[in-house]
Amino acid sequence: MLGGGQLGRMLGLAGIPLGLEFRFLDPAAAAPAQSLGALVVGALDDERALLETVEHSTVVTYEWEGVPFAGARMLERSGHTVRPSTLALQTSQDRLAEKTAFREHGIPVAEFAAVDAWEDLRARVDEIGLPAVLKTRRGGYDGKGQAVLRDDRDLEPGFAALGDGGALILEALVPFDRELSVLAVRSGTGETRCWPLVENWHEAGILRVSRAPAPNLNPALQAAAEGYARAVLEHFQYVGVLALELFQVGDTLLANEMAPRVHNSGHWTIEGAVTSQFENHLRAILDWPLGATDARGVSAMVNLIGDLPDPAAVLAVPGAHLHDYGKSPRPGRKVGHVTVTADAQAELETRLTTLDAALARP
Ligand code: AMP
Repeated sequence: MLGGGQLGRMLGLAGIPLGLEFRFLDPAAAAPAQSLGALVVGALDDERALLETVEHSTVVTYEWEGVPFAGARMLERSGHTVRPSTLALQTSQDRLAEKTAFREHGIPVAEFAAVDAWEDLRARVDEIGLPAVLKTRRGGYDGKGQAVLRDDRDLEPGFAALGDGGALILEALVPFDRELSVLAVRSGTGETRCWPLVENWHEAGILRVSRAPAPNLNPALQAAAEGYARAVLEHFQYVGVLALELFQVGDTLLANEMAPRVHNSGHWTIEGAVTSQFENHLRAILDWPLGATDARGVSAMVNLIGDLPDPAAVLAVPGAHLHDYGKSPRPGRKVGHVTVTADAQAELETRLTTLDAALARP
């Protein structure tokens, strides 16, 4: 496994009952996955560390889409099975390539255009209009590396804020009703499954709460999301779990981005679905049959950001399950999550209110 963060840790937790053994590569000796298998401490682009990690492995996967493409490609070239494919990894690392691929497969996206230099920006703004979002093509995450342009005065500071002033993408600002994501999985034999759509609420660019299945879902929305996810899976001959982030505008969905890995908005599946995203990712990359992706009741996942609450206070909430990633506290850092399950939406909302109070307690 390339990367040993919380996603690697939860993949490890899902794989151990299946009899799997893991070796993780991570730059940090205290990586969250270190208690789930052997850990090679090294940079993700260090050829020797990469080869040491994958030695004698059946299959190589990754838990971070920032894994340097060249290293993953080197492993593939040297005969290792890397799943999902490095083409999916490479595409997901470039917002322009990603959006172009979506559009080529008939997946609706906000209007977008490449901005390679300051001189381009004016012309692209004239085409797309304002408000718009200017983003770095590479490396942005959790809302970093982007600037909202509302009027002409925002162009210069927006462009200047994004670093070296090249390799940017301009997108129309979508007046979305809400943000959704769909998690999908495809195995090496071509079997695919999708979990129900998830509603995601972000604050300051970081995912705070996911609700699954997304409340007030209509079957047409679910069918559209599944169609888009399947188109991406087929395009890449993808093997593993894929997350597709979407904006809902009225009855339509626009794709924002994909993550070629298990995803924060799928953590609810551990307790809230028949088969979790973590287990199905492992089943997929091993060519094993996939498990059912139906929801069990309704769930919400609340990220724990900065530091951990008192476990006893969280666990006193009915239906609450605590996940501690074993990370040291730091402002803005995802250190754990709580999943709350219930039989019905009203009961779930009551439980979430109780959880809020428990989290607010000093
Ligand atoms: P991203 O890094 O692309 O996932 O963007 C982070 C967040 O910024 C998203 O979850 C949205 O809340 C917001 N955002 C990104 N792109 C757009 C857009 N084109 N229109 C409106 N909001 C956006």
